[in-house]
Formats: sequence, C-alpha cells, structure tokens
Amino acid sequence: MRLELLGVRGSTCAPGAEFVRYGGHTSCVAVRADGAAVPTLVLDAGTGLRSLTGMLDGAAFDGSILLSHLHWDHMQGLPFFAAGDRDASRVDLYLPAQDGRSGRDLLAQAFSPPAFPITPEGLKGRWTEHALEPGSQRLEGFDVLAVEVAHKGGRTYGYRVADASGSVAYLPDHAPAAGMSADLLAALEGVDVLLHDAQFLERERGIADDYGHATVEDCVRVATDAGVGSLVLFHHSPARTDDALDELAEVAAALAGDLPVVVAREGATLTVSRRAQVPSPSSSSPASASR
Ligand SMILES: [Zn+2]
Ligand SMILES: [Zn+2]
Repeated sequence: MRLELLGVRGSTCAPGAEFVRYGGHTSCVAVRADGAAVPTLVLDAGTGLRSLTGMLDGAAFDGSILLSHLHWDHMQGLPFFAAGDRDASRVDLYLPAQDGRSGRDLLAQAFSPPAFPITPEGLKGRWTEHALEPGSQRLEGFDVLAVEVAHKGGRTYGYRVADASGSVAYLPDHAPAAGMSADLLAALEGVDVLLHDAQFLERERGIADDYGHATVEDCVRVATDAGVGSLVLFHHSPARTDDALDELAEVAAALAGDLPVVVAREGATLTVSRRAQVPSPSSSSPASASR
C-alpha cells in the first residue's frame, strides 16, 4: 500500500516561508492499495484533505475517511473537500463513538451554524457518518483496527490498517505517558510503519503531558518496544520551523539506533511493505532523519 502525506501538522496550520519544506497543513494521510488508481481510505480530515481533490483528477471521491478524533485539526478539511462534495461522491465517515450520540450528531457539533454555515446534510453526494466502537472492520479492502488511546478532550482512536502488502499504525495524537492498554500494545506489535504524534521534545515534557501529546522520546520508545519496521514522526507543532524539524530529526536519529526514522513531510509518499518502508522513487522522498 502507499501512504500520501497530505498534512503533517498538529493543532493549526503553519503557513509561511519558514514552513515550506515540511508543509503547513494539518493531519491527513491518503491510503492507496497496491494496484488501485486512487486512494480509497483516508486517515483524518485536517486541512491537508483539500489536496486529495487534485489527486483524483476530477473524479468524485468514493471511499472511507477515518477520524482519529474530533479536534479541529483533524476534521477542518471535511467541508472543503471538493471531491467529496459532488453528486457522485460516496463518503463513509468513521469517528469515535461517544456519549451515546450518532455519528451525524457528533460531527454536527462543530459542523453546523453558528460554528459553520452548513450542517453535514449540506454536502452533496452520499455521506454516511458512523459512530465507531473500538474493534476490527473490513473497509475498502483493508483490515482496519480501531483502538482507544490516551489523549485529551474527547475519545481518541489510533488505527492499524493492513492488507496483504503490509501494515501501518496511525496515532497522530497520543500521550503514551498516560498509559497504554494491552489492546493498544497488541495493535502496534510488529507493524511495518508507525506514524506517531511527535509534537514535543523531552524538554517540553510539561506541556506535552498537559496537552495529551507525545515527545519524540516517547515515540522512539513506543516504536522500539513494539518492534515496528520504521517510525514516521508526525503531527508537528505549528511553532516548529523547518530548521527546528531538522534538529528534531537529529534528536530522533540519535535516540533510535537501528530503527529507521523519518520526519513526516507534506507531499511525501511512503510505500508500505512487510518489514520495510521505502520512499517511493516516483515522488518526493520523505525527509531523512539524517538530513
Ligand atoms: Zn491533533
Ligand atoms: Zn487532538
């Protein structure tokens, strides 16, 4: 499978000259099965989701979107996703079930007046919101496992997505210091690629714990303990400039030893295959941890 990194920031967008190399859009990863012409599964719907419309070359989106949680940086791209807003679109939207509310009502809490001009029904096409409980699903030809993770403010999931080609775990917002369940440890065990919250550094431990996020040191520990094939540092702080992310990469590389680590960069494509992650030669390569 292939992962297209459409947005790699956390919290809010980071536009400006100091952010062009790693990109400023918030969290969104498009997943394309081997042999598929276009992505059919999307992890989170931050502002990076707008870029998917261009990749579909004029076609309506036909697939599923998994939201890790409902914080703005993970859903703000939804109403601006033009390829999902067409008569021919089919969008199955999965979000963490909570408070006994329907998927539609959970989405509408942020996506309706006065917070936003329209409700979910204002989008064209066949949209279905699903309040998802933890567990396994077969979606768009992938085995998808949703596991609850520690974060802050509402229920948050990490996802493991697998097919015959390999497996990826996606945990954009995660506070490992708050504890990891046996289900989560089992979900991460041996995945080929782990995309993980790397918003903070150890010297920022206080704010990381306060906001429910991870440090780079947490990421490397989680990845090493789980025996993953490679680690992708994701959900960068909007304050982290390109130069600061280069420094973060050096910190990670020094901690990681033999574990391959890259810093997620918007526009990069990652090819996921069993026990190996190789940057696709057909696209811009992800930022190397050694740069
Ligand atoms: Zn976030
Ligand atoms: Zn969050």
